[in-house]
Amino acid sequence: MNRNLDILIREMRIITQLRSVAAVLSWDQETYMPPGSARARANQISLILSMSHARFIGPDFRHSLSTLVDLPTGKVFEDDLAPEEVRLLEMTWRDWRRATALPVEFVGELARLTAEAQHIWEQARRKNDFGLLAPYLEKIISMKRDEADYLGYDEVPYDALIDGYEPGMTTEKLQVLFDTLRPALVDLVTRIQATDVAARPDVLARDYDEAAQQEFGMDILRDMGYDLTRGRRDHSAHPFTTNFHPSDVRITTRLRRDDLTLSLFGTLHEGGHALYEQALNEDYFGTPLCESISLGIHESQSRLWENYVGRSRPFWKYYYPRLQQRFSGQLNGVSLQDFYAAVNAVAPSTVRTEADEVTYNLHIMLRFELEQAMINDSVAASDLPARWNKGMEEFLGVRPQNDAEGVLQDIHWSMGAIGYFPTYTLGNLYGLQFYEAAKDQIAHLEEKIAMGDLGSLREWLRENIHQVGRAKTADELVRELTGGPLSAEPFIHYLEQKYGELYGAISGIN
Ligand code: ZN
Repeated sequence: MNRNLDILIREMRIITQLRSVAAVLSWDQETYMPPGSARARANQISLILSMSHARFIGPDFRHSLSTLVDLPTGKVFEDDLAPEEVRLLEMTWRDWRRATALPVEFVGELARLTAEAQHIWEQARRKNDFGLLAPYLEKIISMKRDEADYLGYDEVPYDALIDGYEPGMTTEKLQVLFDTLRPALVDLVTRIQATDVAARPDVLARDYDEAAQQEFGMDILRDMGYDLTRGRRDHSAHPFTTNFHPSDVRITTRLRRDDLTLSLFGTLHEGGHALYEQALNEDYFGTPLCESISLGIHESQSRLWENYVGRSRPFWKYYYPRLQQRFSGQLNGVSLQDFYAAVNAVAPSTVRTEADEVTYNLHIMLRFELEQAMINDSVAASDLPARWNKGMEEFLGVRPQNDAEGVLQDIHWSMGAIGYFPTYTLGNLYGLQFYEAAKDQIAHLEEKIAMGDLGSLREWLRENIHQVGRAKTADELVRELTGGPLSAEPFIHYLEQKYGELYGAISGIN
């Protein structure tokens, strides 16, 4: 290997290892840490992260990178480099440019502000008092506008923020997707609501033993190929996947006795994220080639398992008899068809995380609209509750009873994560396109799933998506695997087919 590249990669490994240390501390904080230690832990995490950040933006790293890349333009000096090494350097420069574009004091101030705002958000939500959060949010919005200016953008400031989560994505491209998606979804929801099909979701709210739910979820994780010698599962208030290295990828789930779906679909979702992280190529650990492409591509993996596999008929053909065996008291007399209909019940609601496949993306579109208003149009934080409620009525036909179940429901904005929400919808769209490609390329995939074979799909994902790291962009990956660009059409077609069948002869659905 090129000697300069070798030196750079060694430095990148140290930076990544420091981040991994911070991630272990965060994982512990969310799972086992005694609550009294919150302040001490925040200091520990912030110390480690500031050490890794300082190395990344410091003079040594800059010098090392400058031997391989023209720093002002990002042009890689390609002599004697392999194509994947060129890509590695392009991605490294991209991350470095974003990190160094922000003044150190700005980064520190934003970190302090958002740490405090998250605590305030919890209180505000508990007390149903948006007024508590408003001044913090106002400051966050103003700093995120400054951040966009530091980072630079072509069209609108919001683009600079989106690009941090989904490289290459822009407001305009999202708007085109959403303009196709929104009317189709609104139309489908309206037609579904006009039917009198009862989905019997009450079967999912019976009393389900927690240990048995755990075991059932673990069986599915094993079948998916989640490697428990290089991962583990714990509980947390908010489910997540975290990774310290491909050899240690952990998930958490949430359990409730009166809600079978929470842990079940949460496990499939986080399991999908975890398979991605476990299958990254660890030879490249510390570099972009051992990192996921984007949040949207990451989410495509969780949604693929949660929805396109986990809410499908073939999946339940195999797993429902097994679920019934574990919960005979709760599920005796509930047919496969009724259960399938229950896990796919469609009903507009005010809460994003509880939304079904059909209405989910409408929640995202509302946030997309509000984020643009905040960042591009200088809308004041205090105007958000009213805009939120109006938007909910327009998009979903429901109105939150209060701000706690309205504008205060998500933690993202108080974390400064503006531009993040669209990646959830991108995940749904990418995930469906990838699943369709897998069906084309793996013979009898759905028959295999119906026989409990999840390994064929996992191997396909590993080979075609997980192992790629950031050697391809999201756009390159989707074109290569599906023969076309990211598109809302396949998703709309999928919903029409699936819900047309489920909800019977809905006029206009065929
Ligand atoms: Zn996810």
